[in-house]
Amino acid sequence: MFLRTFAALVLPVFLLAGCAKNGGGNKIKIGLSLDTLKEERWQHDRDLFVAHAKELGADVLVQAANSDDALQNSQAENLLTEGVNVLVVVPHNGKSAATIVEAAHKAGVPVMAYDRLIRDCDLDLYVTFDPEKVGEEQADYAVKHKPKGNYVLIGGAPTDNNAVLVRQGQMKILQPSIDRGDIKIVADQWATDWQPVEALKIMENALTKNNNQVDAVVVSNDGTAGGVVQALNEQGLAGKVLVTGQDADLAGCQRIVQGTQSMTVYKPLPKLAYKAAELAIDMAEKNPITDPVAKLNNGKIDVPSILLPTIEVDKDNLDTTVIADGFQKKEDVYKK
Ligand code: BGC
Repeated sequence: MFLRTFAALVLPVFLLAGCAKNGGGNKIKIGLSLDTLKEERWQHDRDLFVAHAKELGADVLVQAANSDDALQNSQAENLLTEGVNVLVVVPHNGKSAATIVEAAHKAGVPVMAYDRLIRDCDLDLYVTFDPEKVGEEQADYAVKHKPKGNYVLIGGAPTDNNAVLVRQGQMKILQPSIDRGDIKIVADQWATDWQPVEALKIMENALTKNNNQVDAVVVSNDGTAGGVVQALNEQGLAGKVLVTGQDADLAGCQRIVQGTQSMTVYKPLPKLAYKAAELAIDMAEKNPITDPVAKLNNGKIDVPSILLPTIEVDKDNLDTTVIADGFQKKEDVYKK
């Protein structure tokens, strides 16, 4: 009796949860190849993606390459050998990762680029927050709050196509002020592998070279903003110079509350991770992608792309965005 009731209660749930199947009728296997887990965000991306794919009845095999191109390529090869039905890749190097796409296609496996574009190949799909928009929001905030003065620009990893697109967005907004002579770019560098310590060095040099006469630093993410604020702090300038960021990571949000970082660009990661997991299953099942798609040229083809919106955040709307969404906890962000 108990068993029958139990079965009656449980069975429909099983049926509802279903099981994502590939063409051969087996459970779908997704390969997730990450550049790194260094920045806080990638751990969330991984956890959200895996949890949602599992809910939808697929398995996920995860690999992280620790910013090593050769390792990422061989990890992707391993995932293909394991028989994944679709590969989802956050490339460390947007150019050399083309090899991964070629290898996958040889095995008949479609590839989605997650967050970062893969260039010069027949990539199947790109799902991301709009990187150019991120750069526009950073520069827009800077220009509104410091319409005139000496600016330092610190780009992300030159090997990451996002860093290039973010910079493109920043320049779109900054150029008119530069042309009018309102804004002077006194230093302009890129931080290898988005490393905070690189940003620290770049900022120390920029301050020395300009006798500390810097009004704003357009920094491309929160990790590197941490390095910049450290350099400013050494000169007693933290809180006096405008600093931008991206990711709404915990340390970035804490600096916003403390007043040493001015803004961040918040990317609500569940939106990206869930959408990507759903689309990965569609790709594995060879379903047509029906989402409204943009086209982004990767140097070889116009890649069908999904560009999600981001949110500009400073101390005035931190509570009603990042914290209200549960992306960061209030007690952590305001911890003294
Ligand atoms: C991502 C950023 C991240 C950076 C460093 C970029 O491609 O879009 O969110 O901060 O990589 O990992």
